Amino acid sequence: MGDTTLETGVLAGDGRMLIGGELQGTASGAVFDVVHPANEQVVGQAVDGTVDDMARAVEAARRAFDGTDWSRDVEFRHHCLSQLHAALENNTERLRRILVTEVGCPVTVTGSQIESPIEEVRHWAAYGRDFDYVVHTGLHDTPMGPARRQLHYEPVGVVGAITPWNVPFYLNIAETMPALMAGNTVVLKPAQLTPWSGTELGRIVAEETDIPAGVFNVVSSNANDVGAALSADPCVDMITFTGSTATGRAVLAAGAPTVKKTLLELGGKSAHVVLEDADFTSALPIAAMMACVMSGQSCVLPSRILLPRSRYDEGLEILKVSMENFPIGDPWTPGIMQGPQISEQQRQKVLELIRSGIESGARLITGGGIPENLPVGYYTEPTLLADVDPDSRVAQEEIFGPVLTVTPYDTEDEAIEIANNTIYGLSGEVSSADVDRALAVAKRIRTGNVSINAKSHFGINSPFGGTGQSGLGYRNGAEGYREYLSIKTIGLPE
Ligand code: ADP
Repeated sequence: MGDTTLETGVLAGDGRMLIGGELQGTASGAVFDVVHPANEQVVGQAVDGTVDDMARAVEAARRAFDGTDWSRDVEFRHHCLSQLHAALENNTERLRRILVTEVGCPVTVTGSQIESPIEEVRHWAAYGRDFDYVVHTGLHDTPMGPARRQLHYEPVGVVGAITPWNVPFYLNIAETMPALMAGNTVVLKPAQLTPWSGTELGRIVAEETDIPAGVFNVVSSNANDVGAALSADPCVDMITFTGSTATGRAVLAAGAPTVKKTLLELGGKSAHVVLEDADFTSALPIAAMMACVMSGQSCVLPSRILLPRSRYDEGLEILKVSMENFPIGDPWTPGIMQGPQISEQQRQKVLELIRSGIESGARLITGGGIPENLPVGYYTEPTLLADVDPDSRVAQEEIFGPVLTVTPYDTEDEAIEIANNTIYGLSGEVSSADVDRALAVAKRIRTGNVSINAKSHFGINSPFGGTGQSGLGYRNGAEGYREYLSIKTIGLPE
């Protein structure tokens, strides 16, 4: 499964699994195809791992956790992650081409998906080295006299990491690096559509770092059963998962018999409340860009735009012009900002939801189909739907496409009510010339994260998590590191 360089720049990753320190295939030799979404061509293969392979990987992780010093030797972990950071930096361009090949993400916007996560490896290495794993809480009165207490932060154990295809390299790093640095051992199960961003990480760990055998394992597979096996395995102590809410519920249920700690980052259906005094010419082109830039394949995208009725037509016009002029096309061409959807199945899902919106009374302002000049590749036109009923499917279900729905409102209270009319609670946005007013609205939106006037809530130092059915627990920040630790409270004599 060597490199295949084609004219377009596609690059096949190393499709082997990493289990117990060995890069390997599966016993039957089975592989599955990886397709480049921009030209619909098969560009290589990855190993089609089985439930047995997953069990071997979990066993290897268990042995490494129980039988080595990994969980106790923070200096060694710092050494290994620093090595990994340097190795990833040396592989930056290779990882970028693999990402564009698998996802069809425009090369121009890969920085946040390649350079940023590589930097996060360094961040977690330093954060974990400096973390206070023992906290003294002083003297406490007890019936048996005064007792000192200490909190010992200890790794949870074997962590199963299950990742989706939309930002695969970033999420593989985000889910596994704090876990490793905190002293856990890890089994990573990348998504079917993006196996190489995971297997390539396995190859780099195996070939270019001192991370001991079994500490980091990668099992690629074309079957959902294999992720399900990881989430149910009694030898796994914790699951960290990013994906759809439906699969998140299955993961939570699978872990229930063994009461697994479960960190879930699930779907979203975020609203953007545009207040009457907002600067439309700044807020709305950014909103359109956010909808298109990853072909809408982002869980945090504020895809429901709520416009004041008094400025409704003006807002629609700005959104229309922005979406119609968005640079969509071949992801390898510099300057292109929107590539294809990741697969034909995903594109059909997007188109079907757009149709359902129109059937339920929404007005198609622009888009709604396949761009005429891009017949090959899974491209979808940037699409704007107006007069969207907040209870309709297109306003309730996550679309994962370059689609904005717009609903007018009359009062601020009504806008907040519509924003909160969802099972999700991942993010949101408020635009206003008056930041205090925007903040007051942001406080009433029931989500884990809100941006005001396009100022990002997202970053390695700030906790990120969802409320409602958007998730459990946090990534990033101190909270995100502590997720991978459990606390042992010890009482001692004075
Ligand atoms: P999507 O529907 O967008 O493909 P999913 O949430 O189904 O996203 O997939 C996210 C990840 O969950 C992928 O790695 C996928 O293989 C995995 N997965 C799918 N089904 C299950 C399951 N029942 N249990 C655990 N993981 C699963």
